[in-house]
Amino acid sequence: MTHVLITGGAGFIGSHLADALIARGDRVTVLDNLSTGRLRNIEPLVNQERFQFVNGTILNEQLVDKLVERADQVYHLAAAVGVELVVAKPLESLITNIKGSEIVLEMVHRYHKKVLVASTSEIYGKNTNGPLREDDDRILGSPLKSRWGYSTAKAIDELLAYIYFKEKAVPTVIIRLFNTVGPRQVGVYGMVVPRFVEQALQGKDLTVFGTGKQLRSFLHVKDAVAAMVKLMDHPAAVGKVFNIGNEDEITIEELARKVIAMTKSQSKIIYVPYEKAYEEGFEDMQRRFPSTERLRALTGWQTTATLDNILESVIQEQRKSV
Ligand code: UDP
Repeated sequence: MTHVLITGGAGFIGSHLADALIARGDRVTVLDNLSTGRLRNIEPLVNQERFQFVNGTILNEQLVDKLVERADQVYHLAAAVGVELVVAKPLESLITNIKGSEIVLEMVHRYHKKVLVASTSEIYGKNTNGPLREDDDRILGSPLKSRWGYSTAKAIDELLAYIYFKEKAVPTVIIRLFNTVGPRQVGVYGMVVPRFVEQALQGKDLTVFGTGKQLRSFLHVKDAVAAMVKLMDHPAAVGKVFNIGNEDEITIEELARKVIAMTKSQSKIIYVPYEKAYEEGFEDMQRRFPSTERLRALTGWQTTATLDNILESVIQEQRKSV
């Protein structure tokens, strides 16, 4: 039986990953300090014999040492995530994202375990040229702007993972997650889909930032998890980086309209300037969508959920909790 350690496994993506791995018969240990993760995400798993939850931080070296030693594979997802969170708590975010990853990678090196490191499409910064391929340029503003500081921190994580592979032959796989959405994602850290759905269900105005003409592509978390598992299990993924995302685009304004229509809400759309929504000088990217050719070519992965499916699942979940 494969024993998998998931750092950040009580979070939105990590908990769906834990579900998938338990369902296929793995033993799963989740390490999470519940900063943005939530116990209710893993509630269905806690009584399972093959599941263990450890409440702790990736900054605790002794703990990470012990947990990595016992595992066969490590999915390193623990991080400060969400544009709003990294803008609000830049120091904490930076330390978690750099020092935490350093500790996890040091331990997988110590015990020679396979690790999948979760990075982000924020890596590409303001590069809005067509489908973004893994080798494309990063176009960033000053690292003193929180968003680009976050992008820089995640780039260091990637570099660490890559250099451990090159120099020490540690089997590392890097993924760059594009906008991933679905049940259990919460709107408080800025994520647009849960936020719009909540606003629509509560009859509040939907807050579209900027002009609303910015384009995004949204992937269902279950499709993201399927890609992660395929990559972890594929020997040829080692030492490489892969985009994970959807190739269907929509403007944020259209997304807001779609959410209003699907919830049959009376809500209106209001336009909020970026400097009000985030901070002075905040920069958004007008377009961001991935090329997933590399992932598809290696693993045969395909998306299964449409944006309508995704929105339906989020609306259904939120209706239950209202
Ligand atoms: N956004 C918005 N209203 C909100 C939250 C976000 O218009 O209440 C916009 C945000 O400015 C960005 C897009 O929706 O252009 C996606 O935001 P999110 O934070 O979900 O992900 P990002 O792509 O910024 O990482």
